[in-house]
Amino acid sequence: MDTFVSLFSPPPPLPTKTSQLFHASSPPFSLPKTHHSRKRFSRVQSKYGNFLDLKPESKPEVLDFDLPRLDPSSRFRSDVIIIGTGPAGLRLAEQVSQYGIKVCCVDPLPLSMWPNNYGVWVDEFESLELESCLDKTWPMACVHIDDNKTKYLDRPYGRVSRKKLKNLLMERCLSNGVKFHQAKVWKIEHKEFESLILCDDGNELKASLVVDASGFASNFVEYNKPRNHGYQIAHGILAEVEGHPFDLDKMLLMDWRDSHLGNEPYLRTGNSRIPTFLYAMPFDSNLVFLEETSLVSRPVLPYMEIKKRMVARLRHLGIRVKRILEVEKCLIPMGGPLPRIPQSVMAIGGTSGIVHPSTGYMVARTMALAPILAEAIAECLGSSRMIRGKSLHQRAWNGLWPIERRCVREYYSFGMETLLKLDLNGTRRFFDAFFDLDPYYWQGFLSSRLSLTELALLSLSLFGHASFLSRFDIVSKCPAPLVKMIGNLALETM
Ligand SMILES: Cc1cc2nc3c(=O)[nH]c(=O)nc-3n(C[C@H](O)[C@H](O)[C@H](O)COP(=O)(O)OP(=O)(O)OC[C@H]3O[C@@H](n4cnc5c(N)ncnc54)[C@H](O)[C@@H]3O)c2cc1C
Repeated sequence: MDTFVSLFSPPPPLPTKTSQLFHASSPPFSLPKTHHSRKRFSRVQSKYGNFLDLKPESKPEVLDFDLPRLDPSSRFRSDVIIIGTGPAGLRLAEQVSQYGIKVCCVDPLPLSMWPNNYGVWVDEFESLELESCLDKTWPMACVHIDDNKTKYLDRPYGRVSRKKLKNLLMERCLSNGVKFHQAKVWKIEHKEFESLILCDDGNELKASLVVDASGFASNFVEYNKPRNHGYQIAHGILAEVEGHPFDLDKMLLMDWRDSHLGNEPYLRTGNSRIPTFLYAMPFDSNLVFLEETSLVSRPVLPYMEIKKRMVARLRHLGIRVKRILEVEKCLIPMGGPLPRIPQSVMAIGGTSGIVHPSTGYMVARTMALAPILAEAIAECLGSSRMIRGKSLHQRAWNGLWPIERRCVREYYSFGMETLLKLDLNGTRRFFDAFFDLDPYYWQGFLSSRLSLTELALLSLSLFGHASFLSRFDIVSKCPAPLVKMIGNLALETM
């Protein structure tokens, strides 16, 4: 928890890394000529035997748009203010403004490149006609369950081009007349039929609806239940390496092998209790994105522990890092309760409970849910009707979180609670059975596409595919989360 608080204390620090464009048809990244001497690298690597002291070399990138700024002194009044121009905020702005609704986005750095590396399943972006925003795809993914077993997943995976996606959404926003205000929001106040935001530049802006899309660290949204999140924590690097052992036509979704910890009894014991895996996107034989990841832990696994395990793993795999282009510090709150529904501020993205409680993925789902929320908002604020205040808030929240979707989320949270109880061997057995399921089920689960009935069928099928020990895990460790889920489902449907 301390780590979470220190990483997430407001104001959130701006990440120091940038995006780079990868084109599927051309080499994904052209490595700039370096003036760093080889001596420097060998000194760092031989002294510490790892890559942790190498500094990321990329500089933050900024989009080239002439943004239509809001003039706070003018009489222009927005219908909707969206706080944050991350993937969630911009997608919602693009969608709501399509209905002719006046939208203003507020962000301290609206043109800055998003910092995170986003991975999605290609079919998720294809179904949204966003596949042109992937800069690299792999026809397959693979999972190393242990040293003796690897699963090959016949489902293409892609890396989102932050630049292409942000450009696309920004262009559409501009052509729909979205305005921008460059500031940080400090406070939101609500009146009967409108809300008002107070910005750090002293300006106050009013709108019929304020939507919080300011990410996981937001404290604008209220909860009426204890926030018992799990946390996904990971350390990632985009690195130039001397070589790596990964197939270039497969992305490595999870590597649960632990042979790299053979000479590290302390790390091995910790990993047996709360395991981490390696996630890798190989771009070419010398460029790879590597991320040591704790799928979910509570309390959160210390960040330093993750880094130490990653150092041991890369050494064991014989991966020598020459240069680091980007560093990614990842901390994602998962599961826990939804925000209070309804409330006067609407939310989308990291602050709205959309993140998949069992995987930490969110981008594709946000792209898919923003149009649904936009439609609910348009039904209230569109030209022919003027529904505001409490009715507007209720319709917007129920548009994003209808009962069925809340119940399904309870199931995914049950998945997270189950994963929290599994040690390394239990986790291996779980994924061994999970990826043996009919692809309709495992793919649907990972992409939040299954109905409650389908999730119940998935559970039965998972039990059927599970080994004796895995069944024992389910029977002995799941009753408490199961009872909790049933209780929450009952509350939701009452
Ligand atoms: C390191 C990392 C890697 C991830 N990788 C993946 C992945 O591979 N696939 C996936 O599906 N999901 C991934 N996620 C989860 C999730 O998709 C991302 O966190 C995503 O960026 C959330 O989008 P967002 O728009 O809700 O928030 P953010 O991307 O955090 O954007 C929030 C925006 O709000 C602005 N803002 C913040 N506070 C204020 C304020 N007070 N006033 C005005 N503006 C404000 C910020 O400047 C920022 O522009 C990852 C998360 C992290 C942290």
